[in-house]
Amino acid sequence: MEIDKEGPKGVTEEGRKVAAARCVEYKEAIQDYLDAKKDIPCGLDLTEKNEQQKKKILSVLGGSEEEWNDWKWQVRHMIRDVKTLAKIFPLSDEEKEQIEEVGKDVRWGVSPYYASLIDPDDPNCPVRMQSIPSIQEALDPSVVTEPETILYNSPAPCITRLYPDRLIINVTNACSMFCRHCLRRRDIGHENIRYAKESVKEALDYIRENTEIRDVLLTGGDALMVSDDYLDWILSELDAIDHVEIKRLGTRTPVVLPMRITDEFCEMLEKHGTIFLNTQFNHSKEITETAAAAIKKLTRAGVLVGNQTVLLKGINADKHIMKKLMQDTLRIRVKPYYIFHCKKLEGIRHFRAHIEDGLEIMEYLRGYTSGLAIPTYIITAPSGRGKTPVNPNYILNTNVDGQVLFRTWGGHVMKYDNER
Ligand SMILES: *Cc1c(COP(=O)(O)O)cnc(C)c1O
Ligand code: SF4
Repeated sequence: MEIDKEGPKGVTEEGRKVAAARCVEYKEAIQDYLDAKKDIPCGLDLTEKNEQQKKKILSVLGGSEEEWNDWKWQVRHMIRDVKTLAKIFPLSDEEKEQIEEVGKDVRWGVSPYYASLIDPDDPNCPVRMQSIPSIQEALDPSVVTEPETILYNSPAPCITRLYPDRLIINVTNACSMFCRHCLRRRDIGHENIRYAKESVKEALDYIRENTEIRDVLLTGGDALMVSDDYLDWILSELDAIDHVEIKRLGTRTPVVLPMRITDEFCEMLEKHGTIFLNTQFNHSKEITETAAAAIKKLTRAGVLVGNQTVLLKGINADKHIMKKLMQDTLRIRVKPYYIFHCKKLEGIRHFRAHIEDGLEIMEYLRGYTSGLAIPTYIITAPSGRGKTPVNPNYILNTNVDGQVLFRTWGGHVMKYDNER
């Protein structure tokens, strides 16, 4: 093969000049992000700091390094009382009272691992905001008037069906954490409930009878809060149904309890055909070496991992923070899938952003960063009418003399010939 020193032909000197000028524009277009990015903490850079908190928590809980890596130990030692919490990071008397008060209404609990990611010196730490009750929850006057989605959309026990070809089986209401922004806050209850095997069998019967169902999501709660054997059983039952082509798992464990992703668990998953796992990273601080290791194991087992972020004011409802999150999830092999708009629910008003905020975020993703880093922004329609994408508008006018008028990500207005 011949070697050409200059690379592809067809670029003139003039062309290089134009390209150079465009490149200056590209760089300028993200300069604000490059400046802002420096101040956005990422878990991958905080290993040392998190490690110190981990040591502290281990000494408070009296655990060993080995126990720390055991997810069952993590679940058993979920931090759910103010006294323990106060030993891990400083809390004022007022804060202690407020956590007690709010926690009575909607329970709280945080895994030792996730607690180790909290910055003790930052009351607005995004990890803290997601896990520790805030008085804002009690101050929220919102009243939910919308009928519960489940009321009209459960044709069989444990099933939620909103779509033609796919549905959810709810296997448990248990979670590895009770996220303060949880859109199912009211379902969390005060007890962990695993739904009876009999109910799941009825759900499986429903799927067998409805041959258009080709995609089954196991979720809850958190699908990974049941045992490997139980999941193995459900997945095997689904494998045996010809028309079920893919299976999905909904779980926050890679974020809040990554040690749940054990080698044995991954070996089990590997037996079960095509599995997608969707999780919920909401801030770059959650992207840690431990989370990355868990994802790597999953991908080795052939599992495809996606991320469903919730748009949260004070946490990620910011174009720079969200972009960094999307880029950081990609770094650990997680594909951004959805950004969910946070719906109006009792107790979470302080987290709610406006749709305009979400649109601005989307505007500054497309073009500005890898297409891979761009999820779909979703509003969940009331009454279970389904996920609805909302997007910045790029088409300005259709059909002007066979032309479509649109704008580019960079703001160039252009005509596109639409004639055949
Ligand atoms: C979210 C959801 C799905 C999956 O929707 P996709 O857009 O395919 O990811 C399926 N069923 C229910 C009930 C859901 O809430
Ligand atoms: S893991 Fe999901 S379902 Fe569970 S509390 Fe968090 S947001 Fe809610």
